[in-house]
Amino acid sequence: MKKWSKWAALGLSLAMTMMLFTGCGSAAVEEAAVETQPAAEETDAAAESTAAESEAAATDEEFSEDVQAIIDRGVLRVGVKNAVVGFGFQDTISGEYSGLEIELAEKIAEYLGVDVEFTAVTAATRTELLDSGDIDCVLATFTITDERKESWDFSTPYFTDHVTVLVEDASGITNLEGLVGKKVGVSSGSTSAKSLVEAMIGAGVIAGDDFNAETFDPALWTEGVSFQQYDDYPTISTALSAGEVDAFCVDKSILAIYHTDGRSYIEEEFAPQEYGVATTKGSGFSTVVDGLIQGWLADGTIDGLIAENGLE
Ligand code: GLU
Repeated sequence: MKKWSKWAALGLSLAMTMMLFTGCGSAAVEEAAVETQPAAEETDAAAESTAAESEAAATDEEFSEDVQAIIDRGVLRVGVKNAVVGFGFQDTISGEYSGLEIELAEKIAEYLGVDVEFTAVTAATRTELLDSGDIDCVLATFTITDERKESWDFSTPYFTDHVTVLVEDASGITNLEGLVGKKVGVSSGSTSAKSLVEAMIGAGVIAGDDFNAETFDPALWTEGVSFQQYDDYPTISTALSAGEVDAFCVDKSILAIYHTDGRSYIEEEFAPQEYGVATTKGSGFSTVVDGLIQGWLADGTIDGLIAENGLE
């Protein structure tokens, strides 16, 4: 791995420097060295030393300032979900995190040679924490959209999910048509409401004459379906049980933990959600992260992690 060759180069360079230093300090040692080291080997060693030193110098320039700052800090700070089984899940007793996104974060930290520190984020808080510099990146079921790409960098997608809707069986709702005239709970800062309206228009269950993808606001939409926005998913689940909302809409991976007895998904799944690692726009770290994700997609690492986390 690149990281190893980097350390090997630094180690070799240091060893060569020490040898030279020792040699300079003692004529006897210098003589002995000349005696025992054939000329050809000396040339090889010198060439190796030069290569190692130039590689080490390239390494110094390899990382941009922002990436070097993470390395110097010794900790990569990552925003993750804490209740999305298979992606980002925190065991309430042990406090341990697990899931695909947790493992990817750990691998990024490992590449940089630093520890990893997780911060639980929601759809509403993840970008604020990234913008404020509290976290270095977001690995939190964060869907790549053109609009979001204007504000943050996203890696190549590492997983694709779909949006669906969870309802109480007692509601009798089974499909998109059944949602007409209903109030749907969604998370603020999520793609869910817009995805649902687009799906309902696509299915022909609402006309959507006033729909404009650019200006769509869940709080203002009342044509055929309306939305109640919440800060987190447990609150939406409670609101669904209490009848405050008729349905709960978000990515299927997120809904899984709330899919308890007496609740069902509607028939349709829609709006592919490509998850990417979000980083500060224009940062050197964006390039590093994308390179790593692309590599792990190409060599089957991500496929392996998807299978291990039961996400196939
Ligand atoms: N993945 C969707 C989004 O990024 C749902 C929200 C969430 O990830 O919590 O908007």
